[in-house]
Amino acid sequence: MTVLPSQTQILIIGAGPAGSAAARILAEQGKQVVMIDQQQIGRDKICGDGLIPDAHKALTRLGLLDAVMTQAQHVDYVRCVGRHAHVDIKGELAVLPRRILDEMLVRHAIAGGTQFFGGIRFERALEDNNGRVIGAVLRQGEHQIEIKADWVLLATGAVPKALQTANMCERHTPNGVALRAYVHAPTMVGRITEMEFVCSVHCRHGYGWIFPEPDGVFNIGVCIIDSYTLHEGKGKRKTDANLRQIFDAFIAEYPQAKALLQEGELISDIKGAPMRCTLQGARWSRAGLMVIGEAAGATYSCTGEGIGKAMETALLAADAIINARTDEDEAEIRTRYEAGLLALKPKYELYEKANRIHAYPWLADIVIWFANRNEKLRTRMSGILRETSNPGNPFSIKGVRRILFG
Ligand SMILES: Cc1cc2nc3c(=O)[nH]c(=O)nc-3n(C[C@H](O)[C@H](O)[C@H](O)COP(=O)(O)OP(=O)(O)OC[C@H]3O[C@@H](n4cnc5c(N)ncnc54)[C@H](O)[C@@H]3O)c2cc1C
Repeated sequence: MTVLPSQTQILIIGAGPAGSAAARILAEQGKQVVMIDQQQIGRDKICGDGLIPDAHKALTRLGLLDAVMTQAQHVDYVRCVGRHAHVDIKGELAVLPRRILDEMLVRHAIAGGTQFFGGIRFERALEDNNGRVIGAVLRQGEHQIEIKADWVLLATGAVPKALQTANMCERHTPNGVALRAYVHAPTMVGRITEMEFVCSVHCRHGYGWIFPEPDGVFNIGVCIIDSYTLHEGKGKRKTDANLRQIFDAFIAEYPQAKALLQEGELISDIKGAPMRCTLQGARWSRAGLMVIGEAAGATYSCTGEGIGKAMETALLAADAIINARTDEDEAEIRTRYEAGLLALKPKYELYEKANRIHAYPWLADIVIWFANRNEKLRTRMSGILRETSNPGNPFSIKGVRRILFG
């Protein structure tokens, strides 16, 4: 049995991008950090594997961008595909299987001084008499282990079980679901070079994608975001869309997807996973504990991108701890973290509004039509992707005018 220390300054639950990013920054600043995950190093995560500019920014801060880019497939454009045309938007992009990316991130955290323990599951929070979290009860096989910590960071992703047992879950249902497969198709190398986002009729309320990975492999999938809120006001029921049927329809309908499957070989299962978006669905903190990454709903609605945002929220929590004044109490540290999330919230809300574009494919067609005729608009869209310009509310007249005319 692995021997965990009985005490640490920081206990991080979950070694995805959020957990590992926080671990690295805290450990290199001299904090004693223990990170655990129910799985061992090298686990896979169902994902599109796309790294957009926010992920590049976080990886730069972590000092890991060059190493990641050495392994990743470099991509220069996001291709937005409408029903009649497409437009390419420039950005710093890359694609790398999560199995590799997440292992690099964990090892980077360990190199920074984090103690990592795999195969250990979080069961519940340890609390003092006032209800402050002072550690966690963990499980390794038959054995229950207690570890005390000044801070617990919950980075357990979109599956809500840990949020629930930590008494942080406000909504069990995810905002979205997505499904992906890997296809090895060397003949398609050079024919699919962009990260393709396809607004297809069959993917209403979501989209299909094909992303080129290294070594002639492609990540193909579909997602529906809003599977929870879609029917809000109509009984809040989940959409009954069948993701596998949508995937099959995407392949039948989109010529690049059809060619990929005809010429290539499926080398993975076709697997789905939930998504938690818009900084909703969970409390962000309670005394002694902060929720980071997708557990806090850090994935963007509309695009489903969440790797960069998971790391960004993790860095906010890490910075709140590191920058604490000696006279600052834990509530002030949490307030600083939550203020950081609140500052991000308007952008999340715009993505939530923009998500409606999937229900109105004609709107995507109009934007693509204009963008192909207007370089300034393409530059503006690239700014939105890089998060250097604000999309505005895309569903107001002012917002549409702003997108189209700057
Ligand atoms: C099909 C699909 C495609 C996607 N495509 C993209 C994309 O192309 N680009 C992008 O940026 N985002 C994408 N996303 C979103 C992205 O996967 C998430 O935003 C990201 O993984 C969140 O990182 P995280 O560190 O918060 O959580 P995760 O990466 O989910 O890590 C959570 C970790 O916590 C561990 N854990 C959970 N519960 C426990 C427990 N009780 N005890 C111990 N450990 C526990 C898990 O084992 C896991 O290692 C996609 C999502 C899906 C479902």
